[in-house]
Amino acid sequence: MSWHVVIAGGGFGGLYAARRLERVLPHQSSRVTLVNDVNFMLYTPLLPGAAAGVLEPRHVVVPLRQHLGRTDLRLGRVTGADPDRRVLRVDSLEGAGHELVYDQLILALGSVSRTLPVPGLAEHGLGFKTLPDAIALRNRLIRCLELAETIEDPQERAPYLGFVFVGAGYAGLEGLAELQDFAADVIEHYPRCRVQGMRWVLVEARERVMPEIPPSLAAFAARELGARGIELRTSTMVDEITADSVRLSTGEVLGARTVAWTAGVKPPPVVAQLGLPLDDGGRIRTDRFMRVEGRADVWAIGDAAAVPDPARAGQPCPPTAQHAMRQGRRVAVNVAAALGTGRARPFTYRTLGVFVDMGRYQAVASTAGIKWRGFPAWFLARTYHLLLMPGSVRKLRLVTDWTVALLFGRDAAELGQLGHPTALGAPAGAGTGAGAASPAGDGAGAAATVARRAPARGAAGD
Ligand SMILES: Cc1cc2nc3c(=O)[nH]c(=O)nc-3n(C[C@H](O)[C@H](O)[C@H](O)COP(=O)(O)OP(=O)(O)OC[C@H]3O[C@@H](n4cnc5c(N)ncnc54)[C@H](O)[C@@H]3O)c2cc1C
Repeated sequence: MSWHVVIAGGGFGGLYAARRLERVLPHQSSRVTLVNDVNFMLYTPLLPGAAAGVLEPRHVVVPLRQHLGRTDLRLGRVTGADPDRRVLRVDSLEGAGHELVYDQLILALGSVSRTLPVPGLAEHGLGFKTLPDAIALRNRLIRCLELAETIEDPQERAPYLGFVFVGAGYAGLEGLAELQDFAADVIEHYPRCRVQGMRWVLVEARERVMPEIPPSLAAFAARELGARGIELRTSTMVDEITADSVRLSTGEVLGARTVAWTAGVKPPPVVAQLGLPLDDGGRIRTDRFMRVEGRADVWAIGDAAAVPDPARAGQPCPPTAQHAMRQGRRVAVNVAAALGTGRARPFTYRTLGVFVDMGRYQAVASTAGIKWRGFPAWFLARTYHLLLMPGSVRKLRLVTDWTVALLFGRDAAELGQLGHPTALGAPAGAGTGAGAASPAGDGAGAAATVARRAPARGAAGD
């Protein structure tokens, strides 16, 4: 008889669980199936680099088929489960529903952006969680510069040059810092915008940025942002977002056509459809071995799981990649033990460090109690991610991208129409993309706008 282990979700937790299961489970008596809705793992810590055009988007993902051995990869969307019947429900890419029967199930479904009922957020805010989010943000930025450049009246132009990030965790802080750096680079090619200047604001509900890192490092990060002209609003909430403004809880109104929402994460909605015990935050409750409470054959890891944190009694592990990948490896050992191979062990990892890469050779880091800042921290952060990226070819691609960006800068091509081919027979340039008609759309413009690092020609005549 062959045991069937099913993994739902192929991100940090799921991929590392599958790779370890391939090693620890006997080949002849087990098979592993990984269900994921895309055929790659997104390496999220490098997402800000992709948004800022330092890294080619394809280079911040790990193609699952190339990094899995005997695991059977099934592309599809998990829609529910029936743990009493040991069944996972999956919709194929074309929408056909089927059931996967398992002996052991590992849930690693990650998280989605945590939104709040802020008026206008759904209509005007952009997330920063997925690759499409990152590319949409970059395209929005470039479109805003393009549109601003065509506007005569500086007051009317101002909201196009206003950028607001909400949430100063590391996703928000790194995303804002990298994008602002990118914008400061390419604005050289937009004479009117350059003369008027941009406005970048980071809004945070808590008292300081980056509660995940020591206060002195957070203060350094805040100073670095300030030195770049980025305004910080701490202990402040967003009350309303419109097409061209953001109203804060202090009453201040910021002109901005770009609002990025990076205020935390929550489990994806499907987690509530699995028939499993959840904590107050909607994460799946597990014991120290990552076994779901009350279930002998279901395990949960990563952002969607409330695994007890060995470093903080009574608290779940924080939603980080470093926890998810280690939980993936350890849960594989425990699943093998449940099937009679080896011995189960609790999850004991304590955070070794945090890196916050702010671009421009600046970062802050805290590793094993040692605090780093400035260039050494930046170098450490890049080296760490390079070492962690699976596969030597992918490492080489990262080094190449970083080097090219360092030597030649970044270009401002807005390729929102990629993936939206022109309908056959339609007039040339009439893309089918949804963003084609949007004033600050993220998608299909009529033509890609290219502004390379050639001397600005003052086309706008200012
Ligand atoms: C911008 C950004 C920067 C970050 N930087 C860092 C950092 O520097 N360091 C760090 O430690 N952490 C960082 N994180 C956090 C880190 O990305 C997460 O903690 C980590 O990805 C969690 O791993 P996971 O396996 O739980 O989920 P994920 O890696 O998100 O994987 C979940 C997988 O499940 C798939 N999935 C979801 N729902 C379904 C479904 N219904 N059906 C099928 N498949 C589904 C998803 O497509 C995904 O492939 C960052 C996050 C962001 C957004």
